Amino acid sequence: MHDALKSRLRNAGYRVTRQRVAIYEYLRSTDSHPTAEQVVGAVRGRLPRVSLATVYNGIDSLVSIGLVRRIARGASPARYDAGTDEHAHFRCSACDEIRDVPMPSLPAIPADVDVGEVAGVNVEYAGVCPRCRRRKLGLPDAAHVESSPSTGE
Ligand SMILES: [Zn+2]
Ligand SMILES: [Zn+2]
Repeated sequence: MHDALKSRLRNAGYRVTRQRVAIYEYLRSTDSHPTAEQVVGAVRGRLPRVSLATVYNGIDSLVSIGLVRRIARGASPARYDAGTDEHAHFRCSACDEIRDVPMPSLPAIPADVDVGEVAGVNVEYAGVCPRCRRRKLGLPDAAHVESSPSTGE
């Protein structure tokens, strides 16, 4: 289990600790792109005595071995993502929710532009999510609509 995690940590000179495994498992289990603070809250459910610094260091080590993506923008707190497949993000400017946008081929830098060594790409779309859009327009939440009796599929 988590062979990729273990071998990558060891190859980079990190120890495989329960904390790092717990952080990785939590990030793999969610697509909510949590902040470091939210990761601490979630990991404390399993490791009640884990310190803030340990969790922060754990996240940093996972980012540095490339298994966790750090999404930072402006002054808002960084968010973390363990989704390994190529994807772009859509960030709601009203509620700050980040959703994955499947995108198998992300734009490449034109061959005639020499920027050096490229380690990654971050594509982020900005806008307003459906829920916030409905709220702005004064429409009822989509949940109300969905809960109406369906005709079945
Ligand atoms: Zn929103
Ligand atoms: Zn993502």
